[in-house]
Amino acid sequence: MGFLFEKKYAAGKIKYKVLGIKLTLNDKGWKERLSYCPVCRTYEKFRTIRYNDFHRDNAVCPKCGSLERHRFLYFLYQVLFLNRKDRFSILHMAPEECLYRLIVNQDNIEYVPIDLNPEGFPYVENCQKEDVRHLSFPDNSFDYVLSNQIMEHIDDEQAFIKEILRVLKTDGILILNIPYKQGLENTFEDKNIQTEEDRIKYYYQADHVRLYGEDTEDRIKKLFPFARVERISEDFFGKDMIEKMHLSRESGALGDMYFLVRKL
Ligand SMILES: [Zn+2]
Repeated sequence: MGFLFEKKYAAGKIKYKVLGIKLTLNDKGWKERLSYCPVCRTYEKFRTIRYNDFHRDNAVCPKCGSLERHRFLYFLYQVLFLNRKDRFSILHMAPEECLYRLIVNQDNIEYVPIDLNPEGFPYVENCQKEDVRHLSFPDNSFDYVLSNQIMEHIDDEQAFIKEILRVLKTDGILILNIPYKQGLENTFEDKNIQTEEDRIKYYYQADHVRLYGEDTEDRIKKLFPFARVERISEDFFGKDMIEKMHLSRESGALGDMYFLVRKL
């Protein structure tokens, strides 16, 4: 994937070229101390979210509900498939509303949203009930698999990975987002941690089963045999763009890692 990032100033405007996507932003928005959401293309004052003892400032777009990771992923999705005109297929795990709405109306995409609890996604038409460790789809079914913040909920990482590689077509791409603890050298997982209280204490969320650390990139590379793993760093976008669109978590317990995993 060839990367390109350029920034130019014109009167009252900032022009970005990111990964070949042109984006012209109005300076007025920044003067009014607003942020820009690329997902719904509006200037807004983003809201703080709070959970357990943590908070994240400028996290959520009040209009479309996008979080930092969704705004970051918007650019990856644009480059990889939102501008494609040919027919292809996407498997979307736990389909987030703002991303679902970006994809669902494109006629050339065979779009399959899934979750173990489809009733948790009332905005999705035909969300299919699937266990990601035992998918019902035939081998080589999808061009893309979207997995955002799923792996930290899955007890059996190997089963999850095996299934994704099975249903991806050769040359198909898994776009993977994982929360991790910055500064934690090794991913932490202890089978004795079973209560919700302990999981919040050690993993920061009641339904997480491990805490990914700085070794996550190495771990993902080892876990995905017969695939090419590329980490997409948040630094790529530059400080200016990260601040204007809040593409990176400003506070809270965890950070985000992003990977493109291409099946060979
Ligand atoms: Zn938005």
